[in-house]
Amino acid sequence: MTYLDTIANELRSGRRLDPRDALWLLNDAPLLPLGALAHEDRCRRHPADRVTFVVDANPNYTNVCDTYCTFCAFYRPPGHAEGYVHTPEDLVKRVRPSIERGATRLLLQGGHNPELPFSYYLDLIEALRGAYPETELHMFSPSEIRAIARFSDLSVRDVLRRFHDAGLRTIPGGGAEILSDRVRKRISPLKGAPDDWLDVMRTAHQVGYRTTATMMYGHVEEPEDVIDHLVRLRDLQDETGGFFAFIPWSFKRGETPLSSAVEQDAGPGRYLRILAVSRLYLDNIPHVQCSWFSEGEKAGQLGLHFGADDFGGTLLEENVLRAAGHENATTEGRVAQVIRDAGFTPVRRNTLYEALDIQPSTVATQEAPLGGASEVHA
Ligand code: SF4
Repeated sequence: MTYLDTIANELRSGRRLDPRDALWLLNDAPLLPLGALAHEDRCRRHPADRVTFVVDANPNYTNVCDTYCTFCAFYRPPGHAEGYVHTPEDLVKRVRPSIERGATRLLLQGGHNPELPFSYYLDLIEALRGAYPETELHMFSPSEIRAIARFSDLSVRDVLRRFHDAGLRTIPGGGAEILSDRVRKRISPLKGAPDDWLDVMRTAHQVGYRTTATMMYGHVEEPEDVIDHLVRLRDLQDETGGFFAFIPWSFKRGETPLSSAVEQDAGPGRYLRILAVSRLYLDNIPHVQCSWFSEGEKAGQLGLHFGADDFGGTLLEENVLRAAGHENATTEGRVAQVIRDAGFTPVRRNTLYEALDIQPSTVATQEAPLGGASEVHA
């Protein structure tokens, strides 16, 4: 019996994957059997023949940011001529075409802008809720929440409570990068420690939010850092139960300072291993999402056989990866077709992964492209 067989048998008997075995799977397990094991796990949790996706828009409300992450080409420092802030009224207008084309969710994020008052964020939620009462709002990653608290002289809990009172119910898990002090000091030293990200999520779950969790790998981390990231997420999920999905993606080199420290992109093999190990280690997080947008359609399709059960969003107005030179446009019909070509039935879902409808095989594939993405930020 191989080591992988031993791990597989132990998982099937209900034992949790431990960090040492997770590291072995990440580094040394044969790739295809690892994928088969993750897919087996995914099929136990979700209908084996179905893959979900969400139709949404991903505008940004400001690109002004005082945090200067080394992997980010999106932000402009305060006072920069290319900095912008969209008013709530502007954003209501900007997202209307996406909503008319079927977007059911707005994933809205932005830079850490010291010039915005707290009332701006409440006005933003109110304006979007007022204009589009049927549309789900999925807004403000943990680092934004911390920045808003800092600029407004409020506690993180108060900010989260006020947004919850205004109607926000889910927040995106962006900005986790790698939850390692060493890595964050190097790539985003002003963005807070891993415990800061985790504390915002813990508080959000206590206040009543459901959230996603993310990971951006493929830069200066070691494999042990990836496993530490998963360990911290699983531990917090044991405590709060508030995460509903995990979304990994790789750092994309481009016009960013961090690119000079990274010789090459992580590649699809690494992506598939990370998806599979995430599915097996994060046994308490229901969904694992393929980032077809950041990894490309082919790697995304393969990811659906390596533990992922969701294909992300068909997003309009993605600006963060685009700023780093990573373009990857698609359409709702195209996403459905790609899922179908991978051997699954596409199912449109809402933010919390509740099925809305099964996509007919006749969905048009010639719509104007939506600029796609997932929970990339910030
Ligand atoms: S990733 Fe987010 S926090 Fe970091 S510089 Fe870019 S906009 Fe600012």
